[in-house]
Amino acid sequence: MTLRNSLVWFRRDLRLDDHAALHHALLSSQRVHAVFVFDTALLADLPPDDRRVQFLHACVHELDSRLRELGGYLIVKHGRAAQEIPRLAAELDAESVFVNRDYEPEAIARDRAVADSLRAAGRSLQSFKDQVIFEQDEVLTQAGGPFSVFTPYKNAWLKRLQAEPEALLPFETRAHAGVLAPAPAREDATLPSLGQLGFTPAGPLVNAGVTGAEHVLSAFLGRLGRYDRERDFPALDATSRLSVHLRFGTVGVRRLVRLLRERAQDGSAGSGDAVWLSELIWREFYMMILWRHPRVVTRSFKPAFDAVRWEDGGDSDALFAAWCEGRTGYPLVDAAMAQLNRTGFMHNRLRMVTASFLTKDLGIAWQRGERYFARQLLDYELSSNNGGWQWAASTGCDAQPWFRIFNPVTQSRRFDPDGTFIREWLPALSRLAGAAIHAPWLAKPAQLEQAGVVLGRDYPAPVVDHEQARARTLERFGVLKQA
Ligand SMILES: Cc1cc2nc3c(=O)[nH]c(=O)nc-3n(C[C@H](O)[C@H](O)[C@H](O)COP(=O)(O)OP(=O)(O)OC[C@H]3O[C@@H](n4cnc5c(N)ncnc54)[C@H](O)[C@@H]3O)c2cc1C
Repeated sequence: MTLRNSLVWFRRDLRLDDHAALHHALLSSQRVHAVFVFDTALLADLPPDDRRVQFLHACVHELDSRLRELGGYLIVKHGRAAQEIPRLAAELDAESVFVNRDYEPEAIARDRAVADSLRAAGRSLQSFKDQVIFEQDEVLTQAGGPFSVFTPYKNAWLKRLQAEPEALLPFETRAHAGVLAPAPAREDATLPSLGQLGFTPAGPLVNAGVTGAEHVLSAFLGRLGRYDRERDFPALDATSRLSVHLRFGTVGVRRLVRLLRERAQDGSAGSGDAVWLSELIWREFYMMILWRHPRVVTRSFKPAFDAVRWEDGGDSDALFAAWCEGRTGYPLVDAAMAQLNRTGFMHNRLRMVTASFLTKDLGIAWQRGERYFARQLLDYELSSNNGGWQWAASTGCDAQPWFRIFNPVTQSRRFDPDGTFIREWLPALSRLAGAAIHAPWLAKPAQLEQAGVVLGRDYPAPVVDHEQARARTLERFGVLKQA
C-alpha cells in the first residue's frame, strides 16, 4: 500500500546512504519528511560542554545539508521525542513514522510510547534492523537459546552470514530521493545553534559526520591488514577510531563488513581483517546481551556476583577521584585517564587496564567507573561500555575470570614498552628514562633527580600497593566460592 505522507525519524543513523528506514519510507510513500529531535530527556543531564552534543550537532547539520542536496530537508526539534514525534506526525499528517531499531532499554520504552501515541491517532511506527547485521534473537545456540559466550556466538554469527549473504545488501536510497519533501519556501531555519540548545563547544571538532567517517575509514584501510599485530599498543595509531561513527551511524556496519568481504575476494585482505571483524561482532554480541538481559544496566550479568561487596565509604571516594583525575601513581593508568579526560577517547587496551585497576586494585564497584566512562567517552555506547566494564570486573558474560588480575606495571611494560604513550600524556614524566617510566617509585633517586621528578610533588606516589590490593580482591571475590 502506498502511503501519502511518511516521516523518517533519524536517531543514531545520521547518514543517507544504505539506511534501512529511509529506504523503506522512500519506497512506500508519495512524500517523505525527515526529522531529528534533540531529546531533552537525554540532554538534560549532560554538562554544557558535552563533547557528544557538539559532535551530534555537527552531524545533524551535515545531514540537513545532504538532504537539501537531494531536494529534501531536515526538520529539527528540541524537546521530548516521545511528544514531539506524534505531534509532528499529526501536523504533517504522516500516516507512518519510520525508524531504525534501537536496543537500549530506555530507547525501547520511548519507542513503545511513541508507537502507542501514534496508534491512538490512527498512525503507525515502522521499525527496521539497521545498526547491526544480526539483531535480537537472530543468532541462537543449537538448542535455540541465547549465547552468553562470545566465541560460539561469533562462529554462529559467521555461519549465519554465510547462509544469508543478503544481510549485507545495501538499502538503496538515492534512486528514490525524488519523493523527499522539499523545504517550505519561507522556511525558518529549524536547526538550533549549539548555544540555543544550551551547550558550548567542548573544543576543536575532528572528523564529524559522514565526511569525517569516510576520512577516518580510508586512513584505516591502509593499516587494517596489520591490525592483529598492532592493535594492543596504544602508542601506535593502529585501530580504526570508527567507534564514534558506528555509534552515531555516520558509517553503517553493513558497509564495513562488505568492505572486508571485498578485500577477502580481491586478495587484498591481511591477517588483521578477520581480527577486526571479530571486534565488530563483539559490538553485536554486547548489543544482543543488553537487549536480552536489560538488567545488566545496573546489575551483574552473573547474579552470584551481586554478592561481591565493593569498597564504599572510608577513603574510597578519594581513591575514585584519584582514578578519575589520573592521579593513581601508576603511569599507564594515569596516562590513559588523561587521554580520556582530554580527548573523550581511550584505547581499548587501556579501557581494560583502567577498568581492572578501578575494580581490582581499588575495589570500587564497576558501576561507578562505567558511569564515569559514560560521561567522558565520545563513543559512549551503553552495550559495549557495560559489557567492557563487566568483563574487566569479572561480573559479565564471558568475562575475565575473577582471579585473573591485571598487574598495571606488567601491562605497561608489555603494551607501552618504551613508555611512548605515557610520555605523551604525562609531561611530568617525559624525561624519565628507561624502565622507570612504568613504576617511578622503583626508580633510583638519581634517575628521578635527573628527570626533574619529585614523587609526591611532580607525580604522585602509588595510591595502593598492587600486591596488597590483589590479595584483598581475591578475598573479596572469595564469596563466590561459598556460593
Ligand atoms: C571498559 C570498556 C569500556 C568500553 N566502552 C565502550 C563504549 O562506550 N563504546 C564503544 O564503542 N566501545 C567501548 N568499548 C570497546 C572498545 O574499547 C572500543 O570500541 C574501541 O576502543 C574503539 O576504538 P576503535 O574504533 O579504534 O576500535 P577498533 O579496534 O577499530 O574496533 C572496531 C570497532 O569494533 C567495535 N569494538 C571494538 N572492540 C570492542 C569491544 N571490546 N566491545 C564491543 N565493541 C567493540 C567498536 O565499534 C569499534 O569501533 C569498551 C571497552 C572496555 C574494555
